[in-house]
Amino acid sequence: MQGAAIIQKLLAAFPRVAVCHAPTPIEAMSRLGAAHGLDLSVKRDDCTGLAFGGNKVRQLEFYIGAAVEARADVVLITSAAQSNFMRMTAAMAARFGMKARLQLEERVPDPSPLYRQNGNILLDRLIGAEFASYPEGEDEAGADAAVLAAAAALSSAGARPYVIPLGAGHAPLGALGYVEAAAELVAQEAALGAFDAIVVGSGSALTHAGLLVGLRALGRRTTVYGVCVRRDAASQAARTFKRCQALEAMLGLPKTVTAADVHLHDGALAPGYGRLNEATIRAIRQTAELEGLFLDPVYTGKAMAGLIQQAEALRGQRVLFWHTGGQPALFAYADQLTAAMDGPAGPA
Ligand SMILES: *Cc1c(COP(=O)(O)O)cnc(C)c1O
Repeated sequence: MQGAAIIQKLLAAFPRVAVCHAPTPIEAMSRLGAAHGLDLSVKRDDCTGLAFGGNKVRQLEFYIGAAVEARADVVLITSAAQSNFMRMTAAMAARFGMKARLQLEERVPDPSPLYRQNGNILLDRLIGAEFASYPEGEDEAGADAAVLAAAAALSSAGARPYVIPLGAGHAPLGALGYVEAAAELVAQEAALGAFDAIVVGSGSALTHAGLLVGLRALGRRTTVYGVCVRRDAASQAARTFKRCQALEAMLGLPKTVTAADVHLHDGALAPGYGRLNEATIRAIRQTAELEGLFLDPVYTGKAMAGLIQQAEALRGQRVLFWHTGGQPALFAYADQLTAAMDGPAGPA
């Protein structure tokens, strides 16, 4: 059996829905690449189809598949207020006739009024999602426990809730979407030639781990460079490696991914999750100016800033930037982006 067929057979054991516009295109980024001396292309997972797209469409195909199979009528999730995962959860739930209950954590200190009203929050409200709040930002176990308690209350009231957990202790169902995306990439490489390196934002690590496990299961040695958007490189490496092992176990694959396979760069993270820095603003502006392509302030802007910071190490390789979406959050950061463009620093 061909590698891709083996992956399809492994994934067939899990319930899913089919929503993603796949394969997503791979495009050259010649002008941005030339600016940094790189052979650079982009995988357009910002174009996955539903509700402004992004990487969560591929992940949610498996969570919503499980929710549909469980005959759920409401889907619960916890995340940051400007979470793309919550917007996509609300959209996918709507599409399959379920309600969504979004628990907003306080992950970003001193958010502006825009942060609480515009971007993803505006879209969540248009979908008619229900909101709950959680007062902490870095208490994954507590946030998950609060969601489970809300689900239990809904159950007692006769509803059929389905919970999408975010903590690292849960089965990494969403990563299955990126195991499949790895097979999609390998199929595209047959026409485009192989890439040496992938650069991708690493948050929950489901995207990072899924790509790594999928590529290694297909016998590819492509280096996957994760760029930290939430935790420092050491904690994110440990988390990502654990997710890879859980994913291999879930799929019944031999343990192929090693700790040395997990690369993380945290040079674009400061001052922290969801908070802009100069390198990220420069990356967002330069990608827009040279390619007409929008990155987002929380994930892909930082991922591109991290790629640019590592340009020297990437020189001479065929590099694929994996665009994971997130652009609606640009509007929640309009004040800071406008100030940067108007400010004394001048053009990027
Ligand atoms: C969630 C998200 C990521 C991070 O993906 P993980 O699978 O959580 O690591 C990257 N980019 C965007 C736009 C996201 O919404």
